[in-house]
Amino acid sequence: MTDRPRARLFIEGDLAGGASAVCGRDQAHYLAHVLRLAPGDPVALFNGRDGEWLAHIDRIGKKSAVLAVDRRLRPQSPEPDLWLVFAPVKRAPLGFLISKATELGVSALIPAITRRTIVERVKRERMAANAIEAAEQCERLTVPRIEDATPLSRVLENWPVDRRILLCAEAGEAAPINEFLRESGPGGPWAVLTGPEGGFDQTELDLLNKSPNVNAVGLGPRILRADTAALAALACWQAVLGDWRNRPSGRT
Ligand code: SAH
Repeated sequence: MTDRPRARLFIEGDLAGGASAVCGRDQAHYLAHVLRLAPGDPVALFNGRDGEWLAHIDRIGKKSAVLAVDRRLRPQSPEPDLWLVFAPVKRAPLGFLISKATELGVSALIPAITRRTIVERVKRERMAANAIEAAEQCERLTVPRIEDATPLSRVLENWPVDRRILLCAEAGEAAPINEFLRESGPGGPWAVLTGPEGGFDQTELDLLNKSPNVNAVGLGPRILRADTAALAALACWQAVLGDWRNRPSGRT
């Protein structure tokens, strides 16, 4: 395995050889007190645009750290275009869902308020923090885009015409997800859609089933919790149509 720095951080600024990157209080605390790093120690950086760069700590204090950017470790490369539209669940499973969906390579996370959604207050900043942390740890080169919670009807009104929806349906007619994906092939960008703890209600299912973009798929005979269903569907998509044929880069 290639020797990689222990620390890997997402930053907003541009990355290029000779540039310096400034980290705020939380990241400085993480470097100095969680990882116990000091000036001179290596850190990997990514910003979602310029690939991954090797940097080293130049100065570090309580409120900020300055990193000197040395050389590029990996170029930016295309990543799967897969959205997750999900009815938000309560706070603890929500953080879990955001982190795990990020690890599974979603490109956008869209919380959709359905008729039976119980949790209505969804903090975007908290979700963004979960996504950044997971992206740092799993060696992604991007952080998924996170949208504000929006009523499902509005999400569907503004839906891009070419993006297909895998509607996870625990009842009614639905093809087994893997068979469906293998038969349909790539055919455009995709999104996974999962319902809340109580499921979609009939008017929502009627609306969804009218849309030509929607394909109902099944995830087996058991009723999964909403977060399990979302992660299972993302994993199936990645295995059949996504990037699971690739190995982690920079490893031997
Ligand atoms: N309708 C149930 C449970 C909803 S489960 C109830 O009344 O309590 C929450 C969500 O997970 C569902 O809306 C669906 O999107 C997804 N889901 C759960 N089990 C599933 C399965 N076996 N196949 C497909 N989707 C499933």
